[in-house]
Amino acid sequence: MNTNFLQTPIEYLKGVGPNRADLLKKELGIHTFQDLINLFPNRYLDRTRYYKISELQKTNAEVQLIGKITHIKTVEQKRGKRLVATFADESGKMELVWFRGIKWIRENLKINDPYVIFGRANWFNDHFSMPHPEMELQEEHEKSLRSAMQAVYPSTEKLNSRGITNRVIIKLMEQLFVESKNNFAESLSNTILNSLKLLPKKEALFNIHFPKDATLLARAQYRLKFEELFYIQLQLLRKNLVHKSKIKGYPFTKVGEYFNTFYSEHLPFQLTTAQKRVIKEIRKDVGSNAQMNRLLQGDVGSGKTIVAFMSMIIGIDNGFQACLMAPTEILSVQHYNSLLDWCNKLKISISILTGSTTTSNRREIHENLENGSLQILVGTHALLEDKVKFKNLGIAVIDEQHRFGVAQRSKLWQKNKKPPHILVMTATPIPRTLAMSVYGDLDISVIDELPPGRKSIKTVHRFDANRLKVFRFLKEEISKGRQVYIVYPLIEESEALDYKDLMDGYESIVREFPLPEYQISIVHGKMKPADKDFEMDRFVKGETQIMVATTVIEVGVDVPNASVMVIESAERFGLSQLHQLRGRVGRGAEQSYCILMTGHKLTHDARTRLETMVRTNDGFEIAEMDLKLRGPGDLMGTQQSGVLNLRIADIVKDGEILKIARSYAFQTLKEDPALEHPENAPVKHTYSQLAKYRNIWNYIS
Ligand code: ADP
Ligand code: MG
Repeated sequence: MNTNFLQTPIEYLKGVGPNRADLLKKELGIHTFQDLINLFPNRYLDRTRYYKISELQKTNAEVQLIGKITHIKTVEQKRGKRLVATFADESGKMELVWFRGIKWIRENLKINDPYVIFGRANWFNDHFSMPHPEMELQEEHEKSLRSAMQAVYPSTEKLNSRGITNRVIIKLMEQLFVESKNNFAESLSNTILNSLKLLPKKEALFNIHFPKDATLLARAQYRLKFEELFYIQLQLLRKNLVHKSKIKGYPFTKVGEYFNTFYSEHLPFQLTTAQKRVIKEIRKDVGSNAQMNRLLQGDVGSGKTIVAFMSMIIGIDNGFQACLMAPTEILSVQHYNSLLDWCNKLKISISILTGSTTTSNRREIHENLENGSLQILVGTHALLEDKVKFKNLGIAVIDEQHRFGVAQRSKLWQKNKKPPHILVMTATPIPRTLAMSVYGDLDISVIDELPPGRKSIKTVHRFDANRLKVFRFLKEEISKGRQVYIVYPLIEESEALDYKDLMDGYESIVREFPLPEYQISIVHGKMKPADKDFEMDRFVKGETQIMVATTVIEVGVDVPNASVMVIESAERFGLSQLHQLRGRVGRGAEQSYCILMTGHKLTHDARTRLETMVRTNDGFEIAEMDLKLRGPGDLMGTQQSGVLNLRIADIVKDGEILKIARSYAFQTLKEDPALEHPENAPVKHTYSQLAKYRNIWNYIS
């Protein structure tokens, strides 16, 4: 079956009709039979057990009973009417109560007919009472498709108030199974089904909606989660493969003079094993005919810059130009300065282009880019301007990718006949499972090792009441010649208040650290860019000892002499932000410190975040915890991706299934890239259906 059947508009299902159809569409996005069948329950109620009234406990639990209504009365109250029925079985009596829909219920309830009822039994005035029970005549109950575990579907207030209750959805689902004769087409290949011992599609669908028992439910869930993740991975991997076969890059066929000279004569330090591994991965990519599209993840300070440089000079060895783009002027300048030294040694020409480059310099840069005499260009978004034309850009490195949009990145492509190789670097560690889903179509390299000899940052949590002690510590550090960051939160919603906190904080710091002994910089979002740069610059040069700032310093400034990071109202920051901020210190030879300041009142989550920070410096461990605490919704880059639209799988909890699904998707495509084997017919069919209905996979170039 039966694509056509499944595409039937939902109003054609018996029991739906135009009004309900409208609500289902608006509230749950259900337009077709297929959408309904894919509405998976949030949880299940255990209806395996029938209680006697005499067995009820005063725990307010949800229970199911069989009995008869012996008596009904309407009770008038000050605040409105209620309907009260006496419900009895052979062991005793209780009350059923309704506050809404009284008239209809009164007219339809049958006296002395056996009902199966379900609901919460409250202990109230010396008897049990159940408000708004689910009721069904026992006779009907036994006829229906009902299973022991009853599905609870996602719902909305509106649906409930318009009478589309969970009961109604269950009825519609039953109707759908009746009309379809549960004849749903298989969507995975036999190889996969057999090798993982998965439930066939129809059994899985039936048991997810009407589980026969807990074991079958678990197997149904596993099968459907696997399927969902499998198709996401299939799409991502396929995109990656198509990309590699269709989009040709410039093959950097040789490793030449520049690279070899740099490697043998000018390496400033021994590369870590992780750096070597990543350079190898990149060399392999750029040496092939396909265009490289690689994400390089490495914690702050893991040494991504030299990896970027060595990748760029492979391009230069092959007669191409290279560029390095960073999100801010300060970062561009820092990159430029680190590369400049190496370029001078190798006699490679390099320039920097930012918003503040003078017109005459700009003209010269444009000219030298076009005639090819300029080999490396570093800069900000300015690189993307139309006037910037390369003679032959072979590789582009983009630092801190989340600051650049997809559209901006693809602009780099248009600067060339063929797209340059692209290396995107990020210091935001992304848990592996999430990376697989969000960046599944990019190749990923990870530098998971810090250069040797780094002193790990000591992190402590201090309460505001101990501020004076903290200030004393800062003074000691400053007297040793160190510099200090003090960071305040700035959240857009409470901007005015935050701004006041920052200014109050600044004033108290100025009082505590008076001129002329202490010089203080302040940087925040309301300042003009030029003033910001001026203040930053004073701190970078060591002219000020304290930098008071909002989170604008989050991204990549490198001041090795800064050894203390104080984070005010630390409970208000997310984990990844705390980790990024902490990464600003610990860059020099000195022992560095991170001090998390908070008040006494802390939520459970805030406490967990602080404890995590104090316990570990490992960016990946922190990212995993962040994902656990927040779910994928808030994490960088996930907004546009399919990760959030998962129907049944959970990106945090189902990491293991995800890995298996990815490996099966990979294997399937490896053996049958175009999905042409008869064996893969169901996969091909499902895949093409998906591609038709969703177009959420174009989030990364
Ligand atoms: P990030 O990954 O944060 O961009 P950087 O490339 O700026 O890190 O490197 C951080 C610091 O570590 C720099 O001062 C750099 O010179 C140094 N560094 C990088 N790799 C090594 C290494 N293998 N051994 C010693 N120091 C290194
Ligand atoms: Mg960096």
